[in-house]
Amino acid sequence: MAEEMQAVVKVRGEPNGTELLTVDVPRPGVNDVLIKIKTASICGTDVHIFNWDAWSANRIKPPLIYGHEFAGEIVEVGNNVKNAKVGDHVSGECHIACGYCFNCRSGLAHVCKDTKIFGVDVPGIFAEYAVIPAANVWHNDPALSPEICSIQDPLGNAIHTIFSTDVVGRDVAVLGVGPIGAMAVSICKNIGAAQVFAIGRKNTYRTELAKKVGADFTYLAADDVKGDVMDKTDGKGVDVVLEMSGNTNAVVQGLDLLRPGGTISLLGVYADKLTLDLSTQVVFKYATIKGINGRLMFDTWYRMKGLLKNERIANDMKTIITHNYEFKDFQQAMEKMRSGNSGKITLHVGD
Ligand SMILES: [Zn+2]
Ligand SMILES: [Zn+2]
Repeated sequence: MAEEMQAVVKVRGEPNGTELLTVDVPRPGVNDVLIKIKTASICGTDVHIFNWDAWSANRIKPPLIYGHEFAGEIVEVGNNVKNAKVGDHVSGECHIACGYCFNCRSGLAHVCKDTKIFGVDVPGIFAEYAVIPAANVWHNDPALSPEICSIQDPLGNAIHTIFSTDVVGRDVAVLGVGPIGAMAVSICKNIGAAQVFAIGRKNTYRTELAKKVGADFTYLAADDVKGDVMDKTDGKGVDVVLEMSGNTNAVVQGLDLLRPGGTISLLGVYADKLTLDLSTQVVFKYATIKGINGRLMFDTWYRMKGLLKNERIANDMKTIITHNYEFKDFQQAMEKMRSGNSGKITLHVGD
C-alpha cells in the first residue's frame, strides 16, 4: 500500500490557493473504508472553493483536500465494517449524517442538523485515495463506467428534485441548464414529461447540450420565454418548474411561467435574497414551493440505480460528461468548468 499520494488541496483562502500536493494516504477508522479513486467529477461547489467566494470563505478551513463526486474501488476496510469489502466498486453519498438527531431519526438524514460534507467540512476525494464512512458507501452497477458512476451525486440532486413532484404527462420548465439542469431534462423526458422547456441565461453551449439530451424547446433569458411557453401550453403555463440555476430572477420567472396550482421545486443555492408579492405570485396562484437539498438517503440512490438501467438515460449522461482530464491537469479542468463551455467534467485519477 502506498504511503503517499497526490491530492488537490486548497492550501490558502484565496482564488489561487489550490495546489496539487504530495500528502500522506489517509488511514481508515474502524467504521471507514479506504477507496482508491478512479474517477472524480467537478461540482459547482468545487468551483466555489476554487474561486474562494463568500460562501467558501465562510465555510472552508484550509488546508483541505476538496472534491466529493467520485467512483473508485475499496482497498481497505475498518474492523467494524460489514457492508463493504476490498475490491468493491463504489461511489459515496457525500452528506455524512450524525444518525442521532431528530432529522436523521425521522427519515430526513439528508438535512441532518450536524451534516458534514466530504470535500467541504472533512477531507474530500480529489486525491488518489480517500477515506469515507462505510455508512456512506454506495455499490455501483459494474455495467456502468466509472465516469457515469462519478456523477451520481448531482444526478441524485436532479432525481430528488424531479420526484418531489409529478412530471409524467406534464409540461415542465427547467431553469438553469448547467449539468444538473441537463440531467433533469433527460430524466423528465425519459420518464414521460409532455414537453420540457429548458431555459438558460446566455450560454448557448449549455442550451445546445440541453437540446441534445431531449429538451423540446430551449431559451436564453433575453428571449420572449413567457410568450412562447404560454403559446405552447395553450395559455395554461407549465405544470412544474424545476429551478436549478440558483438565480433569484429565475425563481420570479419560474413563478411567472407556472400554471395555477402548479409546483416549483428549488434546488439552487441563492446568494441573493428575494422579495415576492406572495398574494399574487403564490397564494392566489395556489402554487406549491418546495426546497430541495441533497439526496434522500438512500431512496434517491435506489431510484437512480433503477433509472440508470435505462440505456437512453445512461447514454444521455455520457453526452452530459463533455470533458475528461487527467488528474494532474486539474487546473485546466477547473478553468474549462469556469468558462461555462462544458457539461460535466470528470478527472481520470487512477485505474
Ligand atoms: Zn456535487
Ligand atoms: Zn443527524
